[in-house]
Amino acid sequence: MFAHARQPATSRKKKTFGQPACKKLADSYHAVSSERSTVDPLDKVRSQACRDACRSAYFSVEKVYQAEDFFQELDKRITGGQIADLTAFTGGVKISWNKRFTATAGLAKCKRGLYPSATIELSDKLLDDRERLLNTVAHEFCHVANILISGDLRSHGTGFREWAKKCEVAFNDLGIKVTREHNYSPKFEYIWTCTNKKCGEEVGYHSKRLDPKQDDCRHCGGLLVQTNPVARVLKTRRDWDT
Ligand SMILES: [Zn+2]
Ligand SMILES: [Zn+2]
Ligand SMILES: [Zn+2]
Repeated sequence: MFAHARQPATSRKKKTFGQPACKKLADSYHAVSSERSTVDPLDKVRSQACRDACRSAYFSVEKVYQAEDFFQELDKRITGGQIADLTAFTGGVKISWNKRFTATAGLAKCKRGLYPSATIELSDKLLDDRERLLNTVAHEFCHVANILISGDLRSHGTGFREWAKKCEVAFNDLGIKVTREHNYSPKFEYIWTCTNKKCGEEVGYHSKRLDPKQDDCRHCGGLLVQTNPVARVLKTRRDWDT
């Protein structure tokens, strides 16, 4: 105790006094971790699910701005801003997000005439990463340019492909690929994992499963548990370990 009195900084004092409590905590931690000798096979699934959830939550906000920015950038670099000029009277190209699009990544609607207009709808569910987002915005840009600038009303004909080529060349640095169709598989909000350690099959659902007993794993017939978001049942249930 006298030793502390001679120390000038009070923070040192705190540190010395804190030690026994820390050690106690460390000891109890070791006791717990050695008790749990087996690694829960679902830990990996859970942490991956958590990382994915964080990333997608961030991206779902960011993508709204990225879509607008990239469309403007496409217009600027490829047409010199012609689409912005053409649609100026109708408020510019409107980009909206549709939560119900599960088969269509994007949809462009254009009206020609004295006051041309264009709207683009994007799938909230399918466009869950940057690559898909940029490629889809480029695809819809090609539709808008093809209709409003080229006056070509065919959907994926030679006119569309010419615009697609221009996009790919101008944005080669971003690796832009404009394909005829966007074959994206949807991302699922609910993931169920087979509890059979040897199997580990994952099944995705877009909505909550009302009756979890409805079906078992189609590979091994094992019990499925919800692993994303981590269901309350996981905290009490341990029978998949046996
Ligand atoms: Zn997280
Ligand atoms: Zn298309
Ligand atoms: Zn299984």
